[in-house]
Amino acid sequence: MKILRDREFLISREDEIKRGETTDIYFLRTEKILKETGKIDTNVKMEISSGSLPHGFQWAVLAGAPEVINLFKGMDMDLYLLREGTIFKPKDDEGYRSPIGYLVGRYGVFGKYETPLLGLLCQASGIATYSAHVRLVAWGKVLLSFGARRMHPAITPLIDYAAYIAGFDGVSAVLSADILGLEPQGTMPHALILILGDQVEAWKAFDKYVEKNVRRIALIDTLYDEKVEAIMAAEALKDHLFGVRIDTPKSRRGDIKEIIREIRWELDIRGYKNVKIIVSGGVSLDNIADMIEAGADGFGVGTSVSNAPTIDYALDIVEIEGRPIAKRGKLSGMKQLYRCRECYRYQVTPYSDKERSCPSCGGTMEPLIIKVLDKGEPTVDFRDPDQTRSYVLSQLEKIRELGWKDV
Ligand SMILES: [Zn+2]
Repeated sequence: MKILRDREFLISREDEIKRGETTDIYFLRTEKILKETGKIDTNVKMEISSGSLPHGFQWAVLAGAPEVINLFKGMDMDLYLLREGTIFKPKDDEGYRSPIGYLVGRYGVFGKYETPLLGLLCQASGIATYSAHVRLVAWGKVLLSFGARRMHPAITPLIDYAAYIAGFDGVSAVLSADILGLEPQGTMPHALILILGDQVEAWKAFDKYVEKNVRRIALIDTLYDEKVEAIMAAEALKDHLFGVRIDTPKSRRGDIKEIIREIRWELDIRGYKNVKIIVSGGVSLDNIADMIEAGADGFGVGTSVSNAPTIDYALDIVEIEGRPIAKRGKLSGMKQLYRCRECYRYQVTPYSDKERSCPSCGGTMEPLIIKVLDKGEPTVDFRDPDQTRSYVLSQLEKIRELGWKDV
């Protein structure tokens, strides 16, 4: 008997995903019936959209487009999507549901891919959306993705990619950093201090043996009080010390704001004003603003990002053989999502790829949905993470300027 089909790890292989084998069975049954009834080649347009957002968010970041393009590449169909990293609202400023993209072609070509398509977009967009909200709250602070350990290692690169394009500065996992073209970022684990048996010895050993271009960030909560160890670290490494990290366990936390305040005070009064305070462990949108106010300079963000709630997209038929049609609750026909370059007003209209002017401010509204696959051939390349990150950051700058309130 093959236990778990002899798999060492319970993950789908890339070729299995490409063949649509992770699909839900009802799509295969639909395929069979459509074949039997001669309807498998029916021409359809299917619309991707999202309903409400998790966490009370008012806007989201589309992520996962490069993988979706790879999923459908080579198939006889057209694919339309928002550009990777586009910030959208689930409804436009008049209350119409925003389209995210379209699958256009014969239903039999792509019908069964609904399951993997949504999975690719929902998870990546969920992580990118949460990360972008963290970026906005922690504007100007250092943000590192530390969440690899909370999720299946098969998706470590995905988690770190989504956090990075949403504005995080670095990632801790080695493979993710390699894929993203970054240097992995990290400090030191409690294990190092406990095995060497003395925190000062551990910090000094780190300084002695680790490459010189790596920032010296001392972990200061292993044995003594955080502010005591902060002073010890500053005195031991002097100007080699870039920062101190606290990762205080819940049972010892009390008021984390007060701990950060004390560390800042005690370092400053001794002339170590340039030593940064980095916080990890339990950092989320619920507490990050308070910690910044208390004096934290940077964060390692783990679970809240890697386990971010998904953006629940749906896929619906909006046209059959050129005739507009939709199920209850959805609008028929292919649409465009416009955004004003000046005031970020969003407007849903029947599909067009032309610019138009903004009804609010008269500025130029640009069409956000673009054709990304033409008869299976890619017409764009969204794979550069730095380009996508710059695009997300430029939109976040605009949101700051416009003063959008959200979290
Ligand atoms: Zn405008």
